[in-house]
Amino acid sequence: MHNQPIAFQAPAAEAAAFILPNPGELFSARADRLAVLAMNHSLGDWLLFLAGLSRAQDAALQALPSLALPAAATLEQARQHAMPLIDPMQRPGLWRETLRQIVRQVGADAPPAARETLTSLLNASDEVLDSLADTLLTGTPSADQNARLPFVAAALQVVYSKFASQLDAAQLQALDVHGVCPCCGSLPVASVVRLGATINNLRYLHCALCNTEWNVTRATCTACDTDKGVALLEIEGSTGAVRAETCDSCKNYLKIVYQEKDPHVDPVADDLATLALDMLVDQAGYSRAGPNLLLIGAYSD
Ligand SMILES: [Zn+2]
Ligand SMILES: [Zn+2]
Repeated sequence: MHNQPIAFQAPAAEAAAFILPNPGELFSARADRLAVLAMNHSLGDWLLFLAGLSRAQDAALQALPSLALPAAATLEQARQHAMPLIDPMQRPGLWRETLRQIVRQVGADAPPAARETLTSLLNASDEVLDSLADTLLTGTPSADQNARLPFVAAALQVVYSKFASQLDAAQLQALDVHGVCPCCGSLPVASVVRLGATINNLRYLHCALCNTEWNVTRATCTACDTDKGVALLEIEGSTGAVRAETCDSCKNYLKIVYQEKDPHVDPVADDLATLALDMLVDQAGYSRAGPNLLLIGAYSD
């Protein structure tokens, strides 16, 4: 008599509710993407500069030591109250050294117009740098701060992506406040429809600051959660890899990028390379629901 083998089926892997940033490739992949997008682009020089900035972010992240996470009791309390786990207003002082490192690296290849800005950042006191960081995260920047903010943002992205990468995704939970990062409480830059075994066709919002992603239902407004009057707009003749998801209830929009159309899409890089889509949607009367922190200041002159 043969013992019939019993075929056990592995339990279906559950789709990830949260995807934490991978520090080994986050900024280097973004730099590569920006360099590709810069080719034959009307804003090619600017996108190449941002590719260099992302490379400097990568180098700074690799050089960063492990950061002290909040105490276990603090993390647990945040979880119980459905609050973000990390507060970007409580910055570790080493963020300023991260900023100076980034500024020194991009300074070597910076166009003359940017050099004055970079020099002023290198010469700024700790207090000035901290007030720039506060303005970036909470305030309305004044015209004379605008040029410095993308570099401040780049440094803070490195530090908060490091924090996020040190967490365990099981520590995160969805917040009551819709459309806010469960790790750091910041707004999303865009959403990504992913490819992959357990996450195929799932949509994730991507944090503008710490690069954490959290799962959200497709075809609902990421700002107000309605599923009525949500539409997708794209530039005529584009590949369809980047669209704007507009909402007629709250009149907000956010871009959505599709790995299925291009596996290399990056929510930050592809957003920067499609400013023409922002103008189109803006003219149609919609406001952006979340910032691209590398762009703050670039809207005004
Ligand atoms: Zn975040
Ligand atoms: Zn809405």
